[in-house]
Amino acid sequence: MLSELLFPDVKETVADLEERFPLRDLKESARVTRFAPSPTGFLHIGGLFSALISKLNASTTNGVFMLRIEDTDKKREITDGVSEIIKGLNAFGVEIDEGVIGFEKEKGSYGPYQQSHRAEIYHTVAKALVEEGLAYPCFCSEDELTALREKQEQEGTTIKGYFGKWAKCRNLSFDEQKKLIEEGKPYTLRLRSPGSEDRRISFDDLIKGKIEMPENIQDVVLLKTDGIPTYHFAHAVDDHFMRTTHVIRGDEWISSVPLHIQLFKACGFKVPKFAHISPIMKEDNGGKRKLSKRKDPEASVSFYTQSGYPKESVIEYLLTIANSNFEDWRKANPKADLFSF
Ligand code: GLU
Repeated sequence: MLSELLFPDVKETVADLEERFPLRDLKESARVTRFAPSPTGFLHIGGLFSALISKLNASTTNGVFMLRIEDTDKKREITDGVSEIIKGLNAFGVEIDEGVIGFEKEKGSYGPYQQSHRAEIYHTVAKALVEEGLAYPCFCSEDELTALREKQEQEGTTIKGYFGKWAKCRNLSFDEQKKLIEEGKPYTLRLRSPGSEDRRISFDDLIKGKIEMPENIQDVVLLKTDGIPTYHFAHAVDDHFMRTTHVIRGDEWISSVPLHIQLFKACGFKVPKFAHISPIMKEDNGGKRKLSKRKDPEASVSFYTQSGYPKESVIEYLLTIANSNFEDWRKANPKADLFSF
């Protein structure tokens, strides 16, 4: 069987994982949220902003707020990336209920909370997808993929990528797959996308409202040649088994939601609610632009601590951006401690 050939070491099943990470015993109204940064640089003020919003969504509903470290891209990772994030959150009093709390240290029973420690969980789900015919190994080399892109460029196809008739490895026979695997040819694992070009998908974003987009048709990579998951696959697996109810994150991810919904469904998972936050903008030369990591020192949270801004003032400021009613609420509740709900 193909799935056995690809994952001979996987002994657990998805059902075992469902049992290992049971539904949380929380009220219906409780929100389970997470901040899921990659340790690729200093904590950005936009990161603190979304962490704060996730935290308050959890704490004001008696839910759970987690810190998950998304360290699947070892090339972009920086030394001390994880401790920078933890230090940054601590400096502003954004405490976590579960997740990574230090070097190889974490709390909570839905972990590991660091993606590099979750390989067997991803492989268990990947194996089930292969069994159901929803994922397949792709043996195309970088050169072949470049050639494919060039061909699509020349032909001027409207949609480019690895899908449909272009997805060469989609229809390999089992004997062909077996031969290539046994020869030791490197492969990625791809989703066999059930999407269709002429179908659209809509979802209700809790911030932006109803959004409609074309379905995903790309056979995206789920596991890279080294077996490490891509962000998209890890997101679906982690948010399902950590029992996240509300995915709150930057709006640069909106365009990936059709793929994410497809992945949750392909895996047989309930789709969480999504809330996409706009980036923090800066006035510049009479115009507005996103804060830039490179150009603006105030993009890093350490700027505020180092310049002596009290942490409370930064948090209050972020909340005035987050909610236009916040100032009125604050005037009515001048002494209320935000983190004590
Ligand atoms: N690791 C992703 C990032 O750094 C997280 C996106 C998400 O919250 O789903 O932006």
